[in-house]
Amino acid sequence: MHEMSIVVSIIDIAENEAKKAHAEKISELELDIGTVSGIELNALNFAFESVKPQTMLKNAEIKINIIYAKSKCEDCSFEYKTDNVYNLCPKCNSYRTHIIQGKEMKVKSISVD
Ligand SMILES: [Zn+2]
Repeated sequence: MHEMSIVVSIIDIAENEAKKAHAEKISELELDIGTVSGIELNALNFAFESVKPQTMLKNAEIKINIIYAKSKCEDCSFEYKTDNVYNLCPKCNSYRTHIIQGKEMKVKSISVD
């Protein structure tokens, strides 16, 4: 389950930020997670719940913003919502499309006490 290593690195980032701010605990952690980031949200939540108690995030609320994926067609420049990294342009059926949004996996904000 690669979500566990993602959670461990997110918690590392959050704890480093909190220590810089001389905080003792983290009250809220906000994340941006794209729908084609390859992250399974249930697995991510499960990983947080199992790791959290040993960290500064013990009582933190984890907020997850879902970023819906969008693709852009290189042939006709059409932009559209998708749920798959590999997809055809719905307008011209081109294969030359690429994801312009939805691969994110980042810490958006951290609130400390
Ligand atoms: Zn197109």
